[in-house]
Amino acid sequence: MDQIWTVQRLLEWTIPYFKDLGLDRARFDSEMLLAYSLGVDRLWLYTHYDQPLTGPELSEFRSAVIRRSKREPLQYILGRWGFWSLDLAVSPGVLIPRQETEHLVECALKLAGSARTILDLCTGSGNVVISLAKEMPSASLWATDISARAIQLAEGNARTYSVFDRIRFLCGDLFAPVKEKENHFDLIVCNPPYVPSGQIQKLQPEIKDFEPVTAVDGGEDGLSFYRRLIPGAIPFLKPSGYLIMEIGEEQGISLLEMMGQWGYRDVNLIKDYAGLDRVLAGRTSSVNR
Ligand code: GLN
Repeated sequence: MDQIWTVQRLLEWTIPYFKDLGLDRARFDSEMLLAYSLGVDRLWLYTHYDQPLTGPELSEFRSAVIRRSKREPLQYILGRWGFWSLDLAVSPGVLIPRQETEHLVECALKLAGSARTILDLCTGSGNVVISLAKEMPSASLWATDISARAIQLAEGNARTYSVFDRIRFLCGDLFAPVKEKENHFDLIVCNPPYVPSGQIQKLQPEIKDFEPVTAVDGGEDGLSFYRRLIPGAIPFLKPSGYLIMEIGEEQGISLLEMMGQWGYRDVNLIKDYAGLDRVLAGRTSSVNR
């Protein structure tokens, strides 16, 4: 007799399968994929262990499990991921928003919460700029990314959260799309690629085989974007404007020094919840150039 695949039996099969493959969060991933295939949220599963799956639900689940078994990130399979208070569309070709990047948002709100003009560089899914737009309702925002796919995804996310008309999304390299906006911004934020090129092959398969290398690769020592951002931001910031960036945990000291060399003041290194250097903030001088 054919087995009836209930919620419970599917989890009992999938969790050990994912564990054997070496996935860190085998239970979580199994539950998330099952909930996704059923169109329910994860908690629903706990009260419906005996629920059998229909044929189409089962085949949806099967193909999701196969994708995950090839180490495709859970987030790309689900097509959505949480960041700040948002539930964002995510897709292959665009960096998955990371929880530690919420520190960048938090820090921007704390230090520059009254900013009226904001620029987000390397916007990706739009996670940072959309969070700031929601939290700062009177700000006008600009966002750039070199990837057209990222800009398209970010625009869709901004529409979902009704902030599309307040954010100008522009495709191009860092400051290039806003080159006429000199002396314009109260705040520039960025989570640039910062992994040293030589370390990329050592990252987990989910990142190195699936996430866009252009969103991760920070050049030989990981600092190549900061070398452009730190001087590059100065003409675009108003006097006393803030530059706030996410950084790699081992980059704090070098970047602190770089900020000082370029004349930033009130330079601040902020740690994440794991106690690692994660955000670097500084402001331009208070006098007009
Ligand atoms: N701003 C996006 C994020 O923080 C993308 C960053 C990137 O592409 N390096 O997730």
